[in-house]
Amino acid sequence: MQAWRGSQSEMIDAGGRLVIPGLIDSHFHLLMGARALGNLQLDAATDLEDCLARIHNFAASQPQGQWLTGRGWRYALFRGAAIDRNLLDAIVPDRPVYLSAFDGHTAWVNTAALELAGILHGADISSDFSRVVMRDDGTASGELREGPAMQMVRQHIPAPTEEDDARMLRLALRELAALGITSVHNMDGDERQLALYRTFAARDALSLRIYLPLSISPGMDPQRIDEWIAQNADLRGPLLRCGCVKLFIDGVVESKTALLLAPYADGSDDCGIANYERAEFFRLIAHADALGQQVFVHGIGDGAVRLTLDAYAAAQHANGMRDSRHRVEHVELIDSADVPRFAQLGVIAAMQPLHAGFGYDEHNTWRRLAGPTRWPLGFAWRTLRDAGATLAFGSDWPVVSADPLRGIAAAQNRIKLDFSSFDSDFPDQRITLEETLAAYTVGGSYAEFMEHEKGQLVPGKLADLVMLSDDLFALPTAALSKTQVEITVMGGKIVYQRSTSKGV
Ligand SMILES: [Zn+2]
Repeated sequence: MQAWRGSQSEMIDAGGRLVIPGLIDSHFHLLMGARALGNLQLDAATDLEDCLARIHNFAASQPQGQWLTGRGWRYALFRGAAIDRNLLDAIVPDRPVYLSAFDGHTAWVNTAALELAGILHGADISSDFSRVVMRDDGTASGELREGPAMQMVRQHIPAPTEEDDARMLRLALRELAALGITSVHNMDGDERQLALYRTFAARDALSLRIYLPLSISPGMDPQRIDEWIAQNADLRGPLLRCGCVKLFIDGVVESKTALLLAPYADGSDDCGIANYERAEFFRLIAHADALGQQVFVHGIGDGAVRLTLDAYAAAQHANGMRDSRHRVEHVELIDSADVPRFAQLGVIAAMQPLHAGFGYDEHNTWRRLAGPTRWPLGFAWRTLRDAGATLAFGSDWPVVSADPLRGIAAAQNRIKLDFSSFDSDFPDQRITLEETLAAYTVGGSYAEFMEHEKGQLVPGKLADLVMLSDDLFALPTAALSKTQVEITVMGGKIVYQRSTSKGV
C-alpha cells in the first residue's frame, strides 16, 4: 500500500482488529426502508396488547386528521385469530390507519380506512392471489392480502414528495453506513427510484452501491423491459447499475399465499396460489433473458421454487445457454428433487439468515403452516451449498433488521434458535463463519456480476472495507452479535467512523 500513499492519504492502523470486505446485502428495499424510518415501527411488539399500546402512543404523537401508517407487526401476535379492524377502531376510530405486516405481504387497516377506500363491503379484485378478507356478515375484516388488495387502500394515502424521499434516504444511508453495508441489491425498482438514486449519485451522496431492477407485475407489457433498458443504458456502475428485473411468483407462508407442492399443514387442501399464469410467467422471463437481463424471482414455497427453476430452464432452452446467473429469492422451502438444479442451471440462491430465526419458535405461524415434513428443508443453506449452489445473503430490509452482523450471528446460532425444542434428527443447516461471510461478500458480488470488482480484499478491487471491533473468528458464536462496526470505507472514502474509535 505504501506505493499508493500520497500527501492526502490518511493512515489508519487497525490495531490488530479484523478488516473485511464491505458487506453486500443481496436482498434490499432501500426506499421502502427509508420511508419506514419516519413511520410507526411495530417489529418489537411482543404481543397484541403491546402492539396496540404502541399504535395508541404513536397516534397521540401525530397531528390530528392525518393518516396513521406503519409496518412491522408479526402474524403470531394474533395467535391464529382474525386480523381484525375493530381492534384498531377501539384505539383510533376517527382517522384511517394502514399497517403492513413485517414482510409487506399483508395490511391491517381500520374501518375508517376501508370506508375511505370504498371497500368496507368488499372489492372486485381480478387476482386470485390477492384479496380483501371478508367476514360472514359481508363486511371486510380489516385484513388485506398481497399487493392488489393492499393497493386499494394504499392509493389513498398521500404519497411522499420527492423532498420527503430525499430526506429519508439521507437518513437511511447514514444508518446503513454504520452497519458496514457498502452495496445493496435492491429488489424493487421503477423510474422514480432510478431518478432519485441518479440525483444522489451525481451529487456524490451515495455511501453504498446500488443494483436496481425493474419491478414486473402480472399483466405488464413485456415491452416495458425494453424501454427500461433504453432508459438506463448509461448506468454500468460501479456506484449505480441496472441490468436486472424482479418478479414475484408467490407470497408468504404466513398468509398461505406461498405456493406449495403439497397442502399446508393446517388440515386444508390449500397449496397456495401462483401470482402468474404459467404461460405469462415463462414468457416474461424468456423475454428478459433474451435481452440479457438478470432475473430475480421471489419464490418462497417449494412449488414456487420449482416453477421458477422450470421457467429458467425453459428460457435457457429457448435462448441458448449463457452466463445468466438468474436467482431465486428466499427459497424458504424446497423439494429435495430441486436441490441439484441450482448448480445445474447456474441459478443463485439468495437467502436471508434472519428470516430463519423466527422459522421455528413456538406458536410460530410459519412453523405451524409449513408442518414437520417440510421443516428439514426449510431455509436449507447447508443442503443447497453442498449441492453446489452459490449463496448470496441479505436482509430484505425493512422486513428484518438490515444489520449484517445480526445476520451473521443468526446463521451461526441457528441450531440454538431453531431446534432447541425438538429432539429430532433434522439436518444441520448451519454453514461455517467463512461460508457466511462469503455469502455477504464474494457471493453477493458474484450474484450481481461484480466479482471482478468487489467482494474480496485483493489488489485491484474497489476499496470497500469494514473494520470491526472484534475478530469474529476468535469469538464464541454466541457472542458474535456484540461485534460493532468501527469504520466503513466505500470506494476509498470513510463513510462511517464510530465516535469512540477516534484516534485510531
Ligand atoms: Zn423482498
